[in-house]
Amino acid sequence: MTTHFNIGDKVWLANCGTKEKRNPCPICAGKLKVTLTLGSGEQCILDCDYCAKGYEGPQGYELELEPYIKPELVTVSVFETDGKNFNYHFEEEFYAEQDKVFLTKEAAEVKCAQIAAEMAIQEQKRLEWAKENSKKKYSWHAGYHKREAKRHEEQMNYHEKKAHFMAIRVAEEKGLTFNTGRLNLTKK
Ligand SMILES: [Zn+2]
Repeated sequence: MTTHFNIGDKVWLANCGTKEKRNPCPICAGKLKVTLTLGSGEQCILDCDYCAKGYEGPQGYELELEPYIKPELVTVSVFETDGKNFNYHFEEEFYAEQDKVFLTKEAAEVKCAQIAAEMAIQEQKRLEWAKENSKKKYSWHAGYHKREAKRHEEQMNYHEKKAHFMAIRVAEEKGLTFNTGRLNLTKK
């Protein structure tokens, strides 16, 4: 059975805080690069995607949110109820459902520890997921880089050819012959 509190009651709120903890990147181990070996045996060196932060690139660490117990002594300012469940607002600008509000600090601490443990499990799941997801993306990245390299090569060839034809035309305009393959201009 849960105790119902009234406006003005001083109660303990099972509150949890989180702080950021920096762990070395589990993918690149802080080296910012990863080496991917393709099926052909060819190796690609790519920027670490896991610890990358948008335009700032790889950082070499991951941020873990570490929950900590933070019971708060608060004063009920408003409560809402449907006749069965109670939700509380407190003068300290907190809000909580009844299962997080207690008469004693000890009871709030026990609940805090439970919440913190659940948060820690969720955080581990999130990090695991991010790590797995990051690994999956590498073959895509490698494919992209290879395609881009090929595209650049083709573009280069195109520009080289274009430059070559331009040279021939210029040479012809100036009454010179152009030895194909070499930029060797001779008078006609
Ligand atoms: Zn990394």
